Amino acid sequence: MITKLKKLPKELKNILDVISSLAEPQGVRVYLVGGIVRDLLLGRTNLDLDIVVEGDAAALAQALAQRYSAKFTRHHAFGTATVFFDNHKIDFATARKEYYSRPGVLPAVEPSDLRDDLFRRDFTINAMAISLNKNDYAKLIDFYSGSRDLKQKLIRVLHNRSFSDDPTRILRAVRFEQRFSFKIEKKTLGLIKEAAAQEALRCVHAHRLRDELVLILKEPKPCRNVKRIGALTGFLFINKSLKVNKRIYGLLCRVEKTIGVYGKKFGGLRKVDAWLIYLIGLMIGLKREEIAKFVQEFDFRKGDRIRVLSAKDSLAGISCLDKNVKPRDLYRKLFPLSLETILFFYAYYSGKTIRRQIELFLGKLIHIRLKVKGSDLKALGFQPLVLYGKVLEGLLDAKIEKKLATKGEELKEAKHIFHKLLLKQPV
Ligand code: ATP
Repeated sequence: MITKLKKLPKELKNILDVISSLAEPQGVRVYLVGGIVRDLLLGRTNLDLDIVVEGDAAALAQALAQRYSAKFTRHHAFGTATVFFDNHKIDFATARKEYYSRPGVLPAVEPSDLRDDLFRRDFTINAMAISLNKNDYAKLIDFYSGSRDLKQKLIRVLHNRSFSDDPTRILRAVRFEQRFSFKIEKKTLGLIKEAAAQEALRCVHAHRLRDELVLILKEPKPCRNVKRIGALTGFLFINKSLKVNKRIYGLLCRVEKTIGVYGKKFGGLRKVDAWLIYLIGLMIGLKREEIAKFVQEFDFRKGDRIRVLSAKDSLAGISCLDKNVKPRDLYRKLFPLSLETILFFYAYYSGKTIRRQIELFLGKLIHIRLKVKGSDLKALGFQPLVLYGKVLEGLLDAKIEKKLATKGEELKEAKHIFHKLLLKQPV
């Protein structure tokens, strides 16, 4: 494995060597584990280093942080700590054994050795380690035949209770299967179906389901993941009536295409949260109150909740964006919405007219801002102040329709609007 370790950026490889040299005097054994080992064997880039220590992980992490003058955080979770470097972080954990008292709840843990620590993991391909100890540095440790399963492209659990212990592993199985184009091994698939029949995912805490759902929607091909989950277990854990039918699948495929179009044509605007557009696509068929309940219970961040709900709220209003809509009305409709919501509408409404209007907005109108501000109107002595809001509103319409370019043109138009409004004022 030494040649594989050498594939890591030099800086990271050096840090591993330092970890190795710090572990020996502390009398602990130390290993690189999990996804990074899998990805090194697959030749895939991964810079997330997870270290397991047979002994006090936080003490070792602290020593490393001191050596590099790096930031160090000790977590509340059992024996875990993180060291932060400029471009990456390294997670440390004390080797542990886990006991599940009930499906879906977090397990009780106790310190143990590497073998137990690897046995508590989700799949054989994620349960390998590389030794960082002086006597067998870089040796692959593979108690559960993960490298065989990697070669055979199989996702396999380590024991029969795996999905009842932690049903989120069902979602993880699909994620790795789809990401690597692997297959879920036959017995493992049977266990997933058993867990699905018992609606195991409904026992899991909403936060954990949310995190796994977001990870799925962040995968390169979320549509395939969603389709597979729909077929294997469904999305009962989100809502009883959520079914991945042809309509939803078609919509999510259009979201995928839309994100491609956006990248090519408008990518300069900003990087969008593509996962959120998929989430909107998944939820849009539900009732508003169901969506509100879901985003609340799953405790999505406020900004995410607003974006999902605003898509539901403004969906119908977008259907009337025909070719006769005035640019100023188009601006008013779309400007308050997030890019994610607007791109969702592009995917949802596949007709040419609405798409052209959205393209007009994203290509041109979105950049329009008034140069004139309230303070400019004040400096010109406009009175009364209560009219300022209306003047600026009218000015924005005029700027869009008459394509006013300079501040001078805007001021001239502002005066005009102001006088018209004054005439309408009751005496
Ligand atoms: P990714 O490439 O998506 O980051 P990863 O394998 O690195 O995948 P993480 O979620 O970062 O996944 O978890 C790191 C490791 O922790 C996994 O490789 C696996 O060994 C273990 N793990 C994570 N989640 C679970 C779980 N629910 N049950 C058991 N083991 C888990």
